[in-house]
Amino acid sequence: MYTLPSLEITRTYKAIAVLTSGGDAPGMNPAIRGVVRAALGQGIRVFGINRGYSGLIAGDMEEMNSASVSNIVQRGGTILKSDRCEGFKRPEVRAQAAEILRNHSIDALVVIGGDGSLTGAHLLFEETGIDVIGLPGTIDNDIFGTDDTIGFDTAVNTALDAIDKIRDTATSHERHFLVEVMGRNSGFIAINVGMAAGAELIVVPERAVEVSQISQELAESRQAGTGSSGIIVVAEGPEPGLTYRLAERLREHNQDPRVCILGHIQRGGSPTGHDRVLATCMGAMAVRYLCAGYSDIMVGVRDGRILDVPLHDVISFRKGLDPTLLDLALQVHR
Ligand code: ADP
Repeated sequence: MYTLPSLEITRTYKAIAVLTSGGDAPGMNPAIRGVVRAALGQGIRVFGINRGYSGLIAGDMEEMNSASVSNIVQRGGTILKSDRCEGFKRPEVRAQAAEILRNHSIDALVVIGGDGSLTGAHLLFEETGIDVIGLPGTIDNDIFGTDDTIGFDTAVNTALDAIDKIRDTATSHERHFLVEVMGRNSGFIAINVGMAAGAELIVVPERAVEVSQISQELAESRQAGTGSSGIIVVAEGPEPGLTYRLAERLREHNQDPRVCILGHIQRGGSPTGHDRVLATCMGAMAVRYLCAGYSDIMVGVRDGRILDVPLHDVISFRKGLDPTLLDLALQVHR
């Protein structure tokens, strides 16, 4: 459970809107539900915008009521759909978006998405004065200012589920498997999955490792009788599928691992209880922050406390993997 800030209601809105943008993440639905129900509870009308910023600039939105968000808390994906919209990177398109919102008497927008989506939200506020609140919705957990993001816990558990199954085959055939998990620039998923799965090795972008070193570790664990089979969790890095190349290079070192790319299964599925609670709290708090006069912030969580983080900081700084955690994770697997 989270500690919530006590906020005083200092203003109200006639209508607000909510959208989901960028890569979808399990938990976006409970977040939408939190926003809608909290807003209705304050007597504020809520519009759901379809397909992220693409839908916003097309005016594709509809008013939501309490029933609009019934029976969605357990569903993966997003009922509002998500999209990427290159046009929103241009100021004139954001000005057009603000005009569309104002034409519907909407003065505030809640954006649920990753750092790209939050960048768009910040610029929309800065240039047009439309109030914005961001919610960190991404499986990667790579957003500055928050310990956790909506969808991360579900993605870790989905990957774990798959790895537990792969391990059965790895053990039966006395083989090593390279299991590629998502994480372009960051190893948050890989470290958590690797630790929880008891992986023999974890390869993350934050810590360069030589192929010869991986090969040597596999050979040593085989000799020591501790590792005739096993799982090596690999963060995808710059592009999905690079793990096939790692396997080829390992073959040059007399290792013969199999490769399994988990891919999009990590994005889908019913959100875990943890993600449902996180998303619901963040969604409802987005409305509370608005009514307390906040704008241009993201709702984050740090040390179990829900807090506000300026969007400017969220998009200006990079969240790094704690080096001590990385050391610990790598150490216990050797
Ligand atoms: P995520 O939000 O998951 O990080 P993207 O980086 O693809 O996903 O961003 C989603 C959308 O957010 C983009 O398609 C675009 O509409 C908007 N966006 C991304 N970066 C910017 C930017 N620099 N300026 C304005 N809008 C942006």
